[in-house]
Amino acid sequence: MKALAYILEAFKEPLAAREIVIPDLEPGQVLVKISAAGVCGSDLHIWKGEDPRSRLPMILGHEGVGKIAALKGKKLTVEGEELKEGDLIFWNRGVSCGHCYYCAVLKEPSLCHNRIVQGINIPCTHAPYLNGCYAEYIVLQANTDIFLVPAGIDPAVLVAASCSGATAAHGFDMIRPEPGEVVAIIGPGPLGLFAVAFARAYGASTVILIGGSPARLEMGRQFGGTVILNRHEISKEKRWQIIRDLTHGRGVDLVVEAAGSAPALQEALEIVRPGGNVLSIGFSQPGGTFAFDGFQHLVQKNIRLQGVWVSDTRHVYRAMAMILAQPELFARMITHRFPLARVDEALEVMDRKEAVKAVLIP
Ligand code: ZN
Ligand code: ZN
Repeated sequence: MKALAYILEAFKEPLAAREIVIPDLEPGQVLVKISAAGVCGSDLHIWKGEDPRSRLPMILGHEGVGKIAALKGKKLTVEGEELKEGDLIFWNRGVSCGHCYYCAVLKEPSLCHNRIVQGINIPCTHAPYLNGCYAEYIVLQANTDIFLVPAGIDPAVLVAASCSGATAAHGFDMIRPEPGEVVAIIGPGPLGLFAVAFARAYGASTVILIGGSPARLEMGRQFGGTVILNRHEISKEKRWQIIRDLTHGRGVDLVVEAAGSAPALQEALEIVRPGGNVLSIGFSQPGGTFAFDGFQHLVQKNIRLQGVWVSDTRHVYRAMAMILAQPELFARMITHRFPLARVDEALEVMDRKEAVKAVLIP
């Protein structure tokens, strides 16, 4: 039996439709028929050759929800339910080794050097070959952490929890705003929208959202953004004036950089108040540099700057819970749905930022 998969064979070229033989499963592996696969901003960076983790040829797609077609041996969900054929499941895209210094001593599996992410860092020439979600089937690694999807949930609505939602959850796990604080989020893509939702959940009084895409900014307002600043219409100086007026001249308590660009991180350091926090969750690939004055930007202001690299199962779980608590809201994020054969179009609408989130439905 074979499965159709869309493969990145050369950067910036259309993905190639290829049939891959479905392998015999190893103990613990799960064959999943993909129900929905999210198109992530990282997929665009990988497609353009900007992500140093990419290894060609590879099946793109690291955000998936699907039905179990086959499994080898007894397999339990994170919550202890025994999995069976036909179950609709969701999983943590990253599989860490559990035994290295970062996994075993620091308990920071996101930093594991052996972390495997299907759709990001294993080519389709490596077993189990079906190593990505832009395909009819994926074979999940034996140590994948799996969740059952509750009945009645549209699979497309959950996909973003596995990457952008989980990364935002990781950030807010490291630095939580106090109730009543002013939070600013730079970058209104899926990461930024999850950040808006988490800021509200932690009790932020004011959520300032800065971005350049009117469609994404409007979505941010629906997610709970209270002050929406379009950077194409409001200059950086004017934005700083508006923020000072809102904060007794101090600046923002917590700034979340969710754009993955150097100017966004620079602005975050400028608008945070003395003693405040900056969370950088937006960089999934090198995003440029800027002149950094350690005295002026960091020390004299006594701020904390926290980088956030990917996520772990705990964060995937939190992001999933956030969606399950308000699925109608998160359904609005899915602005585009395409059949698998139109994957190149799905990448284009995300690249042009026309879509907030595009999902492939095989
Ligand atoms: Zn490890
Ligand atoms: Zn992603």
